[in-house]
Amino acid sequence: LDPSTERMSHHERDLERVLRPQAFEDFTGQEKILENLSIFVEAAKLRGEALDHVLLHGPPGLGKTTLSYIIANEMGVGIKTTSGPVLDKPGDLAGLLTSLEEGDILFIDEIHRLSPLVEEYLYSAMEDFKIDIMLESGPNARSVQISLNPFTLVGATTRSGLLTAPLRARFGINSRLQYYDAKLLTTIILRSATILDTPISEEGAYEIARRSRGTPRIANALLRRTRDFAQIKGNGNIDSVIAKYALNALNVDSHGLDEMDNRILTTIIDKFKGGPVGLKTIATAVGEDEGTIEEVYEPFLIQEGYLMRTSRGRECTEAAYKHLGRVHAATGNT
Ligand code: ADP
Repeated sequence: LDPSTERMSHHERDLERVLRPQAFEDFTGQEKILENLSIFVEAAKLRGEALDHVLLHGPPGLGKTTLSYIIANEMGVGIKTTSGPVLDKPGDLAGLLTSLEEGDILFIDEIHRLSPLVEEYLYSAMEDFKIDIMLESGPNARSVQISLNPFTLVGATTRSGLLTAPLRARFGINSRLQYYDAKLLTTIILRSATILDTPISEEGAYEIARRSRGTPRIANALLRRTRDFAQIKGNGNIDSVIAKYALNALNVDSHGLDEMDNRILTTIIDKFKGGPVGLKTIATAVGEDEGTIEEVYEPFLIQEGYLMRTSRGRECTEAAYKHLGRVHAATGNT
């Protein structure tokens, strides 16, 4: 249930594609972002122009790729996808850029991982729709400038903190996706269950939703696993009883926290008396990168009320003690 796509099988990827909403109206949540995007799309269409470049940031599995495809659908244009680490040399990027038709979307996932050379090459493409390409090599090498069809770059990143200022400045539209609450995830799960032709009750969907770490990708993955349990251990219907049974059998945390979430909280409580403790110290203690903790793990823990950011560092709340079954020193409550 790794929320990143990296460890997914082909089968899972296919399922993910099937469950992907195709239009703004199928996309649940992120209301403000959708409202704005649909206005920008409408306006660009009216003017017959390419949409301004879009930067989508937020933790994995919240719908960045999905939104990019929806934007392409709504604009009625094509989309090519790649990712930061895949673009090794400016030449790789040049090939993609020159293949774009007017108004097309180029989606670059993990855009914070572009090499500086490739990133710099992207600047003139984004700004003037022009790139320099090298003709021949050795003593005859020369570069020529060529014009590109106007296109829209959609960049996605889980780590906006790693984006350079010049790159960030080249995006006209900049949106941060938020975690979904259990109600929104319930809607998403009910929709996915319909597509998968799986009978499910609202309570069953809610049970999965509240243990999905605010993340549609996790919700869909848990739905598929729960469906297996319902088929083998039940009558095929997902109700709250079979959902609870399945999620416990799958060892899913009762509040949807993942292993690293729990490790962070446990470390702060057991090693640092619940905090306050500095981010750097936590990072070293749990063996994870500081920025990843700050941009990927913390936002969820803070939103769910397990962690607080204070001027002196991070502090666990009483809810964290309760969740982990530890005694809170100040109140004596567990
Ligand atoms: P990201 O690119 O942010 O990692 P994706 O766009 O790949 O996330 O979304 C992961 C999965 O979650 C997809 O299968 C998609 O169908 C589903 N999903 C994400 N956001 C939503 C949403 N708002 N409504 C319905 N399904 C969603």
